[in-house]
Amino acid sequence: MKKLTEMSLQELLNPEGFACDCGKTHCALPLKYLAVEKGALNKLPEALAALEAKNIFLIYDENTYRAAGSRVEEILQKEGISCNALLLTGSPRVLPDDRQRKIVADALPADADFILGVGSGVINDLCKITAADYHLPCGIVATAPSMDGYASNSSAMELSGIKCTVYTTCPSLILADTDILRDAPFDLIRAGFGDMMAKYISIADWRIARLVMDEYYCEEIARLMIKAVDAVLESLEDLPLRREEGIRRMTEGLVLSGIAMSFAGISRPASGMEHHISHFLEMFALASGRQPGSHGLQVGYGVRQALKLYEKAAQHTPTEEEVKKAAAGFDAAAWENAVRRAFGDQAEDLIRMAKEEGRYLPENILARGLSVVKHWPEILEIIRGVLAVKERLLAALDTMNITDSPEDIGYTKKEAADALLFNRDLRARKYVFTSLCGDIGLMPQPE
Ligand SMILES: [Zn+2]
Ligand SMILES: [Zn+2]
Repeated sequence: MKKLTEMSLQELLNPEGFACDCGKTHCALPLKYLAVEKGALNKLPEALAALEAKNIFLIYDENTYRAAGSRVEEILQKEGISCNALLLTGSPRVLPDDRQRKIVADALPADADFILGVGSGVINDLCKITAADYHLPCGIVATAPSMDGYASNSSAMELSGIKCTVYTTCPSLILADTDILRDAPFDLIRAGFGDMMAKYISIADWRIARLVMDEYYCEEIARLMIKAVDAVLESLEDLPLRREEGIRRMTEGLVLSGIAMSFAGISRPASGMEHHISHFLEMFALASGRQPGSHGLQVGYGVRQALKLYEKAAQHTPTEEEVKKAAAGFDAAAWENAVRRAFGDQAEDLIRMAKEEGRYLPENILARGLSVVKHWPEILEIIRGVLAVKERLLAALDTMNITDSPEDIGYTKKEAADALLFNRDLRARKYVFTSLCGDIGLMPQPE
């Protein structure tokens, strides 16, 4: 069998899937039609015909209408394809919340057989959640290379004021026209870049979790992601200039990230400790009534923090005595108090989750720590792999003006410090690099 890294995007969509050495059969369905190229929008009639979509429910907002929505309507009209359109409004922007979910559901015509979004993160998320709610297929005409959720089977929603991931459905159709994407607001291009740079960290976190926690892992998928992020770095200079080639590569990488998550059945290929940082920052924003900042820029900031921690760990060789000391010295009561101080209303939930999992039972901390000691030579090799690209990554983040300052993305230093300190305590029970550092006593004690 051809390796995943040798396949074109089209080949990766093989509806039969690929029986892989990792034990899984990787399949991107329901995604059937994908084009990331100049003029991709012209393929809309052909794509809808292939998907047998006849009555389209079209969703856009004011910005995405201008970017591509009006052209989509023209194309549908010219082809005589039935279409009902919904313009979403929000001040200052449309949010992925209960209110918009209801607006979309109320406007959904009874005879609609396909939901087509024109937009990026939020519109795509609302389309996917409505498609899942009403058992309809959906698709997206991308207007910005701003995030990696185009092909993923989940939606980031703010339900009842809490940010959560809802498992929905993958789109059947993605059209990413680089002529449209290159005109996206530059902050959205920066955000997509930040989300893409996460992949070095997420893959390293995944490789380490495989060693320490014996987690499922697929080397083919990991290589697919590294190849995609390398392609973005190779054409970095295209991005500030909005050149077609760089925009296309980055969009391909972002779409591929979603496909890789579908292939793996988990978020590991695209999300590690840097994403945990972003999620915690969002929790702090929502808890204090602020709107969270841009996902990709927060993730890019998180990549910088992860690089520092990888560097710190590389200078250290954990020993059995040390991990025994770390396990015995973990002060559960102090940890609980610190969680309450940092998370207010959401603290009890986080504490309950950790208890259910037995995360901080001394014997479990010790077992993980000993596993780290045992696998240290292999772990160190993974860490060195990350550090080998560190300077290049930092320079690239500089180029895209993704800084090391939390204030630049709307957070205080204290919130940023807490996002790092409690990084391993996210709801998702995921072993990330901060988990390792905590288990071997490299993280500060919470206070
Ligand atoms: Zn595999
Ligand atoms: Zn992301």
